[in-house]
Amino acid sequence: MASGSSSLMWFRKGLRIHDNPALEYAARGSDYLYPVFVIDPHYMEPDPNAFSSGSRRAGLNRIRFLLESLVDLDLNLQKLGSRLLVLNGEPSEVLFRCLKEWNIKKLCFEFDTEPYYQALDNKVKKYATAAGIEIFSPVSHTLFNPADIIQKNGGRPPLSYQSFVKLAGEPSWASSPISTELTSLPPVGSVGSCPISEVPTIENLGYEDTEEDDRTPFKGGESEALRRMRESIANKEWVANFEKPKGDPSSLVKPATTVLSPYLKFGCLSSRYFYQCIQEVQRNVKRHTFPPVSLLGQLLWRDFFYTVAFGTPNFDQMKENRICKQIPWKNDDDLLRAWRDARTGFPWIDAIMIQLQKWGWMHHLARHCVACFLTRGDLFVHWEKGRDVFERLLIDSDWSINNANWLWLSCSSFFYQYNRIYSPISFGKKYDPNGNFIRHFLPILKVVDHDLASKECKQILYEAYQLNKRLNGKVSEEDLKSLG
Ligand code: FAD
Repeated sequence: MASGSSSLMWFRKGLRIHDNPALEYAARGSDYLYPVFVIDPHYMEPDPNAFSSGSRRAGLNRIRFLLESLVDLDLNLQKLGSRLLVLNGEPSEVLFRCLKEWNIKKLCFEFDTEPYYQALDNKVKKYATAAGIEIFSPVSHTLFNPADIIQKNGGRPPLSYQSFVKLAGEPSWASSPISTELTSLPPVGSVGSCPISEVPTIENLGYEDTEEDDRTPFKGGESEALRRMRESIANKEWVANFEKPKGDPSSLVKPATTVLSPYLKFGCLSSRYFYQCIQEVQRNVKRHTFPPVSLLGQLLWRDFFYTVAFGTPNFDQMKENRICKQIPWKNDDDLLRAWRDARTGFPWIDAIMIQLQKWGWMHHLARHCVACFLTRGDLFVHWEKGRDVFERLLIDSDWSINNANWLWLSCSSFFYQYNRIYSPISFGKKYDPNGNFIRHFLPILKVVDHDLASKECKQILYEAYQLNKRLNGKVSEEDLKSLG
């Protein structure tokens, strides 16, 4: 047990040193600082068969990204004279033991709006308060405090982006100056008998890794987040003219958007810092785009969805969700599996689903296409099933944003023009006229032009035909022929 005053910084999201109010407060006036990350079994499911039977828990790409982020965090802590202490187990049990054994006087962690963390944090707060431990849990994952917006709106979250932006006004926290970079941290005290480990490998956690060539191109960690963000905003013209939904979803070499979502999800990048960097660019250009389509507007979408999700009971389900339309979705696991395993026979849809499996990230419009296809567009399968697949496979899988977008795309909430559908054929052709994206993720189709007689091609076209039949011939024979 350490004899001076000790504080514990509990990292969950917010895996960064820069602009981290909880970490700064934990360090202030403490003789010892224990930076802790708990590997939570609730989050993991290494068994690929569990995915086939519908597990939403984190898949390989996201766990690898998390571990890379932890290694980077550990290195950055070491540069400041500290290090990351990794523990394993049910987080509250693990923490109670450490708080006691290390005689912690101050417990700091970022506020989290997700129901899982709300329940966990209440338990931890109750214990800490009874033990006389000071708690500091600031809102720093989003630009606004969702609770403030809900309060301003009379206790209910605003349900349109426009009303959110109007209510929110200029984010005072997000516009306030970011404190100067930390140059050192208090040392870690004695860890006693608490079972501390190094950051585990992917194999330690039971996941089977893929070959290097098959891995996602996006590497986790704060250092990569900052590098990536600086690279994006260095192109001032691009930032000034950013306009979503314009942009090519099939762009491979240089994605049309920032690909900062995985870094924002894990808090490797502070949304406030990103917001201020965009503002700085906008101040120095003659003209720029505005919300909702601008880059700054994208961050406001994020905050909007966080606010609605926080203020809506049962947000992640159709039943008993007051903002969700009750739709008699089909319960057809064959169709779900065909979509999930990239076997629909529509190359544009299948290629996007392979990109999801391999990269754990797809462009926004690509997500639109496959989510629309699964739900109201073509297969009429329940949005919750698609949400589960995204939840497991996306690196940026985020409880609030993922559920919100599935509600949107299935016309269950926020957006109701159910007749505005992405064609699984012509939409892809518009952006990928030469089939480069399709051939990249479905290399089997490289041969289609030259060897229509190949067995695999016949199989794919046959499956497309079968599916087409199940869709009551909505897609014409001519469309099918044009797939090659
Ligand atoms: P950019 O266009 O560069 O935008 C910058 C940041 O703004 C993003 O990193 C993200 O944090 C935020 N942002 C952008 N678009 C949205 C949006 N529509 N809603 C909320 N925030 C947004 N995004 C996730 O981060 N996690 C998810 O789990 C997720 N699930 C989705 C599911 C579906 C069905 C759909 C249609 C979209 C989903 N999105 C999700 C939203 C969006 O597609 C991604 O945030 C975006 O494509 C990430 O790429 P980027 O970082 O290059 O975005």
